[in-house]
Amino acid sequence: MRRFARFVLTGALLGGLVVPGLAAAAEVNIYSYRKEALIRPQLDAFTEATAIEVHLITGSADGLIERLRSEGRNSPADVLLTTDAGRLARAREMGLLQAVRSAALEAGIPAALRDPGGYWFGLSIRARPIFYAKDRVDPAEISTYEDLADTKWRGRVLVRSSTNIYNQSFLAAMIAESGAAAAEAWSSAVRANMARRPQGGDTDQLRALAAGEGDVAIANSYYFGRLLASDDPRDRAVASKIGLIWPNQDGRGAHVNVSGGAVARHAPNRDSAIRLLEFLASDEAQELYARVDHEFPIRGGIAQSAVVASFGDFVSDDLPLHLLGKLNAEAVRIFDRAGWR
Ligand code: FE
Repeated sequence: MRRFARFVLTGALLGGLVVPGLAAAAEVNIYSYRKEALIRPQLDAFTEATAIEVHLITGSADGLIERLRSEGRNSPADVLLTTDAGRLARAREMGLLQAVRSAALEAGIPAALRDPGGYWFGLSIRARPIFYAKDRVDPAEISTYEDLADTKWRGRVLVRSSTNIYNQSFLAAMIAESGAAAAEAWSSAVRANMARRPQGGDTDQLRALAAGEGDVAIANSYYFGRLLASDDPRDRAVASKIGLIWPNQDGRGAHVNVSGGAVARHAPNRDSAIRLLEFLASDEAQELYARVDHEFPIRGGIAQSAVVASFGDFVSDDLPLHLLGKLNAEAVRIFDRAGWR
């Protein structure tokens, strides 16, 4: 009797000890497109808050998706962090993600910024406004993306290749809002207005703008933020020549997209993966996103960096971003027909 009681007691103690012991040894494996310096502050804060150890593998966005696919059920990946709703939607279509139900994620992230089935969640907002050369363009000359199709911009528009997902998602949003015919007419007209063949990334468009190769550009706003906040005075000189226009403020609003996270289909540490996504959506991590990479928090009421605050308030397109995945293939076909490349 006594012995039995002691056995039970020991078992209870063990149970009490083992569970926190396991939690302390818990881990989560992340495949991240985001460069380590841009995500490490959030991950360190996560480990501090939860004692969950983080293993980070970084790589190109499409390379990591291919790796997930080829590893299949043997993949160690728990969480995929990547940019663009179009790319997240593609990962879902490829069967690489699993659905997650989480009250914290559903309450903290606006519905338009996450997959309706819970396969991916937006964790930061990026906007794709218009930039102009301050010494050559009066900002009153342009107020919408559609204005870029006007012949007065012939030979003056800078934009990267249509093989880039940012442009594909941008055009997908235009298809959703205005229809395929309008999107194709716009693509052809902007192609005719380009200052040069599409080349380089978004920062290259801003540098070309400052150098006088073109007069208006399309780029994500955090690239402008990086130039403004750069330690290199040459970057700040580039930024000083550039102004930002929030387009379509009387209509659908400026185009926005997300960087986001998802739980991998075969995640060995599913619970830790969900806790990580919940943490990244928390107020603490959201402040870091805005401070570290000049992106926008996924909801209001979060402190922003001085650089981001300097961009001013703007109306953003509230299109549900999962549609960008649905319309991606059509956007690519339209760009091809319009000759963007
Ligand atoms: Fe980017």
